[in-house]
Amino acid sequence: MIGLISFAFFAPAAVAQGSSAPGSLWQNVPMPAPRPVVLPPPPPLALDTAPAKQLFGAARLPADLQARSLGFYAKGCLAGARPLPINGPDWQVMRLSRNRNWGHPVLINLLERLARKVQLETTWPGLLVGDMSQPRGGPMLTGHASHQVGLDADVWLNPMPKRVLTPREREEISAKSMANAKFSGVNPQTWTPEHIKVIRLAAKMPGVERIFVNPVIKKQLCVEAGADRAWLGKVRPYWGHDYHMHIRMACPSGSSTCKAQAAVSGDEECGAQLDYWLKQVRKPDVPPPPSKELPKKKPPPPPMKLSDLPPECRMVLQAPDAAVAATKAAPGVVTAPDPEDQAATPDPMGQDTPVPPTPQ
Ligand SMILES: [Zn+2]
Repeated sequence: MIGLISFAFFAPAAVAQGSSAPGSLWQNVPMPAPRPVVLPPPPPLALDTAPAKQLFGAARLPADLQARSLGFYAKGCLAGARPLPINGPDWQVMRLSRNRNWGHPVLINLLERLARKVQLETTWPGLLVGDMSQPRGGPMLTGHASHQVGLDADVWLNPMPKRVLTPREREEISAKSMANAKFSGVNPQTWTPEHIKVIRLAAKMPGVERIFVNPVIKKQLCVEAGADRAWLGKVRPYWGHDYHMHIRMACPSGSSTCKAQAAVSGDEECGAQLDYWLKQVRKPDVPPPPSKELPKKKPPPPPMKLSDLPPECRMVLQAPDAAVAATKAAPGVVTAPDPEDQAATPDPMGQDTPVPPTPQ
């Protein structure tokens, strides 16, 4: 820019006089009027071109707006998010470095009440809470296809310890899987009757629409639930989710553009569809011989842009910061990757997709 301007102002005079013009001549020549500088058009706004996950991933604080979930669980954003405090009487937030302990106030309230119930009605001292949403919701740079509208929360399937974990521990402790090595059932070393109680308490909370768990966990719930079974229909089998349960709330009142998911059928769903899911996750007894041909990978879909999200999400990105503090890890602490983030443990996008077809 500086180069362009200086050329436009001084080059004509220098050309008129020649480069060896003596100083006296130079002083007598009237300065020509500066030519208008033609600048290239400004680059398009990052808001229109950048992947939405970069825009929302960069927001450290929520939008100072009334709380609203905008759009769909896997295609939306969140206005007026609130943080779940990182330490509660019966919960602790994990992976503070991710700054993902944000949600619609109904989700914050739900987690606080659920943690209290768990503390009162099970042997667990409380809950360890994993990812919720980013401060302004939206797509994330890592992990999760959903969690975009402040109504999804991952709750670890390991009890909260009786002491307050250090920031470092919250990054480094790994969750334990509830599945056995072959994914043929739960792991008796980690699965306990308390797990049924915790998942049942969550499923019965008002406002909870679905809970996603690994099919082997759902199977165990079906086996052990006893006579009280109406809640089982809300617990949906899905890939991954052997380390945590994923709680999804229904659209709250006042969020008129929140897109609801079809209601669960009301059936406990312990039958044929679950059997199909169990076959999908079961690891083979003998690993298949390595294929000579490389598997054909589908090219990933183009990243979501802001224009793919509800129009209000632009306002959410541009709104001033709310007067709250961002959640940060202690300096120098490196987050351990979670097994479920690494590959592509897909998140439940919506409509319980992909739903395997009912076996013939
Ligand atoms: Zn999740």
